[in-house]
Amino acid sequence: MDLGLAGKTAIVTGAGSGIGAAIATRLCTEGASVAVVDINQAAAEAQAARLRESGGRALAIAADVIDEAAVTAMVAQVVAHFGGVHILVNNAGFTRDMRITKMSVDDWDAVVDVIVKGAFLCTRAVIAHFIEQKWGRIVNISSRAYLGNPGQANYSAAKAGVIGLTRAMSLETGKSFVTVNAVAPGIIDTPLVRSLPHFEKVRENAERTTPIPRMGQPEDVADAVAFLVSERAGYVSGDVLHVTGGRY
Ligand code: NAD
Repeated sequence: MDLGLAGKTAIVTGAGSGIGAAIATRLCTEGASVAVVDINQAAAEAQAARLRESGGRALAIAADVIDEAAVTAMVAQVVAHFGGVHILVNNAGFTRDMRITKMSVDDWDAVVDVIVKGAFLCTRAVIAHFIEQKWGRIVNISSRAYLGNPGQANYSAAKAGVIGLTRAMSLETGKSFVTVNAVAPGIIDTPLVRSLPHFEKVRENAERTTPIPRMGQPEDVADAVAFLVSERAGYVSGDVLHVTGGRY
């Protein structure tokens, strides 16, 4: 299936690692130009270099998605470098897990800000381009955790928030043929998950309880995103695609 991504330009946030890096790779392979955006400059540069070495068109940009000025400058740089922007994948995020009795306001703000405010700022920065060209794709990386996980009050609330943002934006932008969807991954084998002190238990649990008995791979999420941002998904909007091995 030709996804029709040749000639399109994508911004992928948090693309220096894990799921974002896999999404950037997949979109590049499909012929899109990709801005590899990450707060970790070295990681962004390394990933963009890998993509260019494989023949792709990629630009590394170091930016914090909750810094309004940095986000505005990032989008301006993408448009200046590639001549436009057509796709945004809001992927940057992290966890800070603990029971709510131990959760500080900073623990709450850090997680909710990067996931919800980051997606809001990046969306707002690209949306005029998408509306003007009457074509655009936004995919927000939520999580199965939006259903609620103990020890993840901040993260679950943020990932549910991203789905609300997705639905509201899809209603605002549909008339301009801009689609907005969310992808809700289950447990995916990335540096974020491997850094958990109980990683082996997480892996064992995923293999035992997931209908498809393995952890997800970043490429599983990238495949779902590639479809949603493609020409083939022009009538899919406001939806949540679960990539959970059936554990939903
Ligand atoms: P990861 O830690 O491997 O990668 C996340 C990247 O985001 C890192 O490179 C990091 O530097 C970057 N980042 C963090 N804060 C940023 C900021 N303020 N501005 C710009 N970049 C920033 O994590 P991952 O597992 O690949 O997760 C990617 C996304 O997928 C996150 O939103 C996460 O919540 C979501 N997710 C992950 C899983 C999983 O099991 N791994 C499951 C569901 C959802």
